[in-house]
Amino acid sequence: MHISKFNSNPSIHGILVQLPLPRHMSEEKILNAVNIEKDVDGFHPLNIGRLAMQGRDPLFVPCTPKGCMELLHRYEIEIKGKRAVVIGRSNIVGMPVALLLQKANATVSMVHSYTKNPEEITKQADIVISAAGVANLVRGRWIKPGAVVIDVGINPVDDPESVRGYRLVGDVCFEEASKVASAITPVPGGVGPMTIAMLLSNTLSSAKRMHGLH
Ligand code: NAD
Repeated sequence: MHISKFNSNPSIHGILVQLPLPRHMSEEKILNAVNIEKDVDGFHPLNIGRLAMQGRDPLFVPCTPKGCMELLHRYEIEIKGKRAVVIGRSNIVGMPVALLLQKANATVSMVHSYTKNPEEITKQADIVISAAGVANLVRGRWIKPGAVVIDVGINPVDDPESVRGYRLVGDVCFEEASKVASAITPVPGGVGPMTIAMLLSNTLSSAKRMHGLH
């Protein structure tokens, strides 16, 4: 009901459903209810479907995957013809980022929790994007010398020295991987702020489209 109110309110240009939802709510039904024109998170099945199809463009690209691609573009990292490995296959990060890399003409492999020899597969990559949610999963020896590493993971680990009792780390062992990679994103301060920037960018293009400024 709230979503249909937001859908019909012309002063609202973007609707974001904060996931995960409480158990009693259907994620599928709620995401489907968001007007595709206001789906600034890009999670509506129509947007994801368009992302997956050749020659179609979604109205909105999901924010975290879009932020990863923006980082690659801004740092002028060549994607075309490169081998990319995406670790994790969630609807939010792994799957859409793999589709985007493929659209950008990379050869993409996906590593997930059932993959055998993840180290061997990851070691072949020119570009590694990790979104598994497992602290220090990707070690320095997993990385091909000179590869580019984007660490999406945000994982709390115990840290008695921190006031909160924990600190946040990525999926990649930064200390080891930064010695091997040609470029690597830190956690925190890497992909996280890009996600927020891309959400603002999607919301701005939504407002422009609604006001006929596109
Ligand atoms: P998820 O739990 O939905 O998906 C995790 C994926 O990783 C699954 O596909 C699973 O198969 C795979 N996986 C789990 N353990 C693995 C292992 N040992 N080896 C290989 N693959 C494994 O998580 P998600 O929502 O995609 O988030 C992943 C991580 O990214 C989390 O740490 C999350 O906090 C972080 N995240 C960060 C941002 C950001 O803005 N930086 C945004 C979204 C998520």
